[in-house]
Amino acid sequence: MLIVILMAVGLWLLGRFMGTPVQARLIMIALLYVAVLFLQFALAPGHPLREQLGGGPAPWLILGAVGLAVLAYWRLLGRVRGRAATLEAARDAGDGRAAQDGPFSDVELERYARHITLREIGGLGQRRLKEARVLVVGAGGLGSPVLLYLAAAGVGTLGVVDDDAVDLSNLQRQVIHTDARGGMPKVFSAQAAVAALNPHVAVRPYHRRLTEDIAEAMVADYDLIVDGSDSFDTRDVVNRAAVASGRPVIGGAITQWEGQVTVYDPAGGAPCMACLFPRAPRPGQAPTCAEAGVVGALPGLIGSLMALEAIKEITGAGTPLRGRLLIWDALDAETRTVRVKRRADCAVCGDI
Ligand SMILES: [Zn+2]
Repeated sequence: MLIVILMAVGLWLLGRFMGTPVQARLIMIALLYVAVLFLQFALAPGHPLREQLGGGPAPWLILGAVGLAVLAYWRLLGRVRGRAATLEAARDAGDGRAAQDGPFSDVELERYARHITLREIGGLGQRRLKEARVLVVGAGGLGSPVLLYLAAAGVGTLGVVDDDAVDLSNLQRQVIHTDARGGMPKVFSAQAAVAALNPHVAVRPYHRRLTEDIAEAMVADYDLIVDGSDSFDTRDVVNRAAVASGRPVIGGAITQWEGQVTVYDPAGGAPCMACLFPRAPRPGQAPTCAEAGVVGALPGLIGSLMALEAIKEITGAGTPLRGRLLIWDALDAETRTVRVKRRADCAVCGDI
């Protein structure tokens, strides 16, 4: 009997060493147990192997019952702990009020449970996400994951500005749109996707180009801007409006196999876009995705990083990409981070 127990312990430790999930290790041990139990019933009394394995099924059945009881207790303990963490976070979110009186309904608490469990977000961070107003510029390759992940994360109000319509050639990377919504303005297609994902999010679609005449008023209406636009002119308009109204911008860009992300925020000591890119690129120097091509999953990566930086910015978790530009080289699967600084002679943020 001892040898079987040693085998079970050996299986567990080997699985642990090899990084096998707990469930897979439990299944292996359960299979061993079933095999031994089968032998106890199959072999005649007095058979040497049966004698060596305990002499009968009784001790094995007792061991199995004890094992099941321990497993059930372990699971129950995990559930109780999870429920306690959620309730504690709900109390945080409601400033000490009971969960029912807090800002979140029971279904929202369940929806955001994995966030609320995180020490760096918790109930307070989730409440900040709900109260946040984020403007997403562009509902294309970068805007797709940004909108989907921010909606899933529970950002309460999402503005989305884009003047384009869904085209078949977009669908290779712009995962928020669908084949059936071809020809529909992207902002309305995005609104439909967000509504299907999370009905607790209010979407404000602006089916138009973000131009200088309206940019400052629009940007000032939001706490944070996520710029997923694909032209220097639009980024310049976003940058000027954000600097003027003191709003941080999560900026991202992609071309072919490379992408980059940073947080622009002169009011918070970080550079603005014009500090890094003071002049518009010469014709042909920065080709668009339509001209140069772009690999499908890259905007998914960079857009997800932008959504992650937005969540950090809103909740105050971790160290934001302020003053750092993260460059992702997808072709060689390499990343590097370069320090970036405000420029005293910047034409946009130099005198603030
Ligand atoms: Zn600047």
